[in-house]
Amino acid sequence: DLEAAVRFFTGNPFAASDRRTLSIGGSALVKVARRLWHFDDAALSAAYAHSGDLGDALGSLTQAPRDTVLFAHDDLSPAALSDAFASIAHASGKNSAKRRESLLEDVFRAAEDPFVVAYVVKIVTGDLRIGLREGLVLNAIASAFDVEPAAVRRGLMVSGDIGTVAVAARHGTLDQLHVAYGNPIGFMLASPIPFGDSYAQLAGERWAIEDKYDGIRAQAHVDGERVMLFSRTLNDVSATYPEIVTAFGGLSRRAIFDGEIVAMRDGNVLPFRTLQARISRKDVADALREDVPVAYVAFDLLAVDDELLLDEPYERRRARLAKVLAPKPRLAVAPFEILGDDVDAAIINERFAASRTRGNEGSMLKRLDSPYAPGRRGKWWVKLKRELSTLDVVVVAVEWGHGKRSKVLSDYTFAVRGDDGGLVAIGKAYSGLTDAEIAELTPWFLEHRLPREAQRAKARASEIPVEPQIVLEVAFDVIQVSELHESGFSLRFPRIVRIRDDKPAAEIDTLDRVREIYEEQLRREKIEPSR
Ligand code: AMP
Repeated sequence: DLEAAVRFFTGNPFAASDRRTLSIGGSALVKVARRLWHFDDAALSAAYAHSGDLGDALGSLTQAPRDTVLFAHDDLSPAALSDAFASIAHASGKNSAKRRESLLEDVFRAAEDPFVVAYVVKIVTGDLRIGLREGLVLNAIASAFDVEPAAVRRGLMVSGDIGTVAVAARHGTLDQLHVAYGNPIGFMLASPIPFGDSYAQLAGERWAIEDKYDGIRAQAHVDGERVMLFSRTLNDVSATYPEIVTAFGGLSRRAIFDGEIVAMRDGNVLPFRTLQARISRKDVADALREDVPVAYVAFDLLAVDDELLLDEPYERRRARLAKVLAPKPRLAVAPFEILGDDVDAAIINERFAASRTRGNEGSMLKRLDSPYAPGRRGKWWVKLKRELSTLDVVVVAVEWGHGKRSKVLSDYTFAVRGDDGGLVAIGKAYSGLTDAEIAELTPWFLEHRLPREAQRAKARASEIPVEPQIVLEVAFDVIQVSELHESGFSLRFPRIVRIRDDKPAAEIDTLDRVREIYEEQLRREKIEPSR
């Protein structure tokens, strides 16, 4: 009863990791109830209008005696209801709908009580509406059986079944739960830190650095030949990447991996937009497989056989990953490098640049002593600010700086080429160049000032328009739609990557390119929310 009851308390007829469904909708519930209690449409409408809840409505229409004592039904204990649900889910074949209805009728009969009928219906429809969430049920289990809430949460992660967890908590066997293959574990996430020239926030800890791959996060559950890939939203995406499933199947092992699916040809990572052609495709034609070859790059190991590794430190999990996964076609292990005791910004920035050269997105830094914290975005993993892409822009106006930069022109307004060929401002940058570079540019800007009339429409009074000749490469966090500048867009956290002496202003990026990046950004948000 305990096992079934806690599942029901979360509004589920079965365990969360259980793929069975009841296949009973609202109309079947009404049909069976009507067969038993003979109400008409008007009575049903009135009851539904009163409560707005199908369970309460049908409960109130039962002809059952209303003085029965709650919970006194031997016939319909939680365990018995759970068995009935199993039979309903099991019904298949030609007359399965009829069979499900007749099983449901038996349940209603056994319920005897309007209140119990109401709650059976609520569980079937998956909506209890009593303010209970999974988290609260987990806390209740912890306090009922005097165990740590963290241990209960972990138990759920391992087993994927709150019912199993409750029983284990009661028997004091939470630490013996088996890893349930096919039950996805929440993904550990990283906090962003800005690219810079000191990484003070990392000081005092030991770190490893890895490339940040630009693909789709996936957790691979490998249970011998049974292989399942889960996306970050915990959906099963195995059918979309059959080559990877086959490759994992060939390992003949039981393990859970965390990693990234990337488009890769001959060992070279292809851009994210290439992979896009495959994302959310259910059936993958041969041609598509050839056009967009995919590979899995593993960067973590969450379980081996029945052993869960979440609490092992990063370094140990990495060592075990190397043993479990010998690289083979379509399966790679992400290389990592352990950094020295003292955080050295020059080394980090060099590794970041090298990662970009390899076609990857940036770098991930991971604390050597960090556990795998499912579903958490903490400080154990940090990602070096992702640059979607950079833009080549031209400086159209400058301003005197502040503080120690008050004697130099250090604030630049820059533009891209608009649809009619003219320049449209898109942002301002204050950082990225060295003091020497700024000092050198200042006299140039002073010599190439333009008259006030050249002021752009949305300029601030302190802006000095200049000849559009200095081309900069700017990086940014995201592109936003904005009224701030003439282009209709603005850049979040822009920083100057370098001065592009090699590029004439005639060849800077266009507003079309800005729109393209903006749209790619929107598409990514859809695929991986909150990347
Ligand atoms: P975020 O989702 O914003 O926390 O950024 C982390 C994302 O980067 C993950 O969801 C992964 O999809 C991706 N990623 C790429 N390479 C790595 C890596 N080496 N370690 C962890 N995550 C990575």
